[in-house]
Amino acid sequence: SAKELSAQVAVLGGGPGGYTAAFRAADLGLRVVLIERYPTLGGVCLNVGCIPSKALLHTAIIIEETKHLSAMGVTFTPPEIDLDKMRAGKNKVVKKLTTGLAGMAKQRGVQVIQGTGRFEAPNRIGVDSREGHLAVHFDHAIIACGSRPIRIPGFPHEDPRVMDSTDALELPDIPERLLIVGGGIIGLEMASVYSALGSAIDVVEMKPQLMPGTDLDLVRALEKVIKKRYKRILLDTKVSEMSAKSSGIQVRFEGKDNSRPVQEAEYDRVLVAIGRLPNGAQIDAEQAGVKVDQHGFIKVDAHMRTNVPNIFAIGDVVGGPMLAHKATHEAKVAAEVIAGEPALFDPLTIPSVAYTDPEVAWMGLTETEAKEKNIPYEKGVFPWAASGRALGIHRDEGLTKLLFDPETKRILGAGIVGPNAGELIGETVLALEMGSDMEDIGLSIHPHPTLNETIGLAAEMAHGSITDLL
Ligand code: FAD
Repeated sequence: SAKELSAQVAVLGGGPGGYTAAFRAADLGLRVVLIERYPTLGGVCLNVGCIPSKALLHTAIIIEETKHLSAMGVTFTPPEIDLDKMRAGKNKVVKKLTTGLAGMAKQRGVQVIQGTGRFEAPNRIGVDSREGHLAVHFDHAIIACGSRPIRIPGFPHEDPRVMDSTDALELPDIPERLLIVGGGIIGLEMASVYSALGSAIDVVEMKPQLMPGTDLDLVRALEKVIKKRYKRILLDTKVSEMSAKSSGIQVRFEGKDNSRPVQEAEYDRVLVAIGRLPNGAQIDAEQAGVKVDQHGFIKVDAHMRTNVPNIFAIGDVVGGPMLAHKATHEAKVAAEVIAGEPALFDPLTIPSVAYTDPEVAWMGLTETEAKEKNIPYEKGVFPWAASGRALGIHRDEGLTKLLFDPETKRILGAGIVGPNAGELIGETVLALEMGSDMEDIGLSIHPHPTLNETIGLAAEMAHGSITDLL
């Protein structure tokens, strides 16, 4: 006998977008059903993304930091690594968070259904669960079905040595020779982890720079550090062939520059991190009349509404930067609009952070973009080599860069490289949202000696009023 349920709001997908929307809608008094195919809530971010990767990166960064201590007369023997314990430690963090989410859902009376959901009619989602088929009738739906890693046709993805980010986070072993295909944020973060654990890393990127599209000054500062750590960084190069042999994964490189140091190489493992595809094409959205583009993205307006007025979409599946903090903010908008509140997703910026070592963070206008689009700007750059704090922690490779409007002197963008750049960028996001100008930032007293002081100093540099150096 088919089971039936009805909800004022049905949320499809339990990642950062989905659970945030479900919780917000429930807090606003709506009856909510949340559909998730996996046994835990949290989606990619909590289970196989942001959280486990950062838990491992913290360990990796401490391993690297111990090397800097030799300058202070302290040397360590090489670390002994127990991968089973490391994996268990990471899994414990994830479990704590996903269990917490389950509790929060219960507290709010959000009904969580485990199963794969698909639209069956304009107001109905069918769920294939372990208990059989379930029909969820809804007044409003929020699609939050997220994204998955892109695979390259013809590559031996079925071989366990060819990994995606989920596989790499499982820490199967510490490969001696590891190739990272794709020099984007996810690839470079995993490179930081495995390099600290002892793998020899090659990174191959099709575009002429790492983290394509990111401000070059920022990328160069990162590159300076990782060039010394990794075996090779191959730019303007693509992998043309990959084959699984018993001795390893054989890879052929192809690029503009045939004098490149390597045409072919063999690896113990390969991580393919060339981007992610939205899951929009897998939910039979057309059954409800929701338009999905050829890539699987679902278009929405600033209220997060799809082309169908009672169906909303949020997170990775709607395009834009595929980031958890974008998904959660969009989620609140969707829930509030459904509850009749005048909400709008209209941020001035969505900050980006690569939690590499050093970290790279940016927000607002980048200098690259300003040049491309002929947008006038003034800039203030403060090199961390002049920061007493950066010197004290033996990390002077960083830089803080602010862009201002030449007329109003208001902040337009910021980029920061160095340890904790991801924490530091927050101040500049608030400055942008509040319309702060150079003087606001320069005259705000930042504590000394800190790394956040470099933000005040960069503003003073732009203002031409820097008097006190460290
Ligand atoms: P997802 O998290 O993808 O969740 C979608 C959920 O829907 C999944 O749980 C899925 O199982 C479920 N689902 C899909 N289809 C169905 C269906 N038909 N029926 C039932 N359930 C379904 N972002 C950051 O901001 N900071 C970071 O540091 C960061 N690090 C990352 C590191 C890695 C290795 C990866 C891969 C990603 C990282 N991201 C990071 C990106 C971040 O994880 C995503 O932007 C975020 O998870 C998107 O949230 P979402 O809710 O849109 O989708």
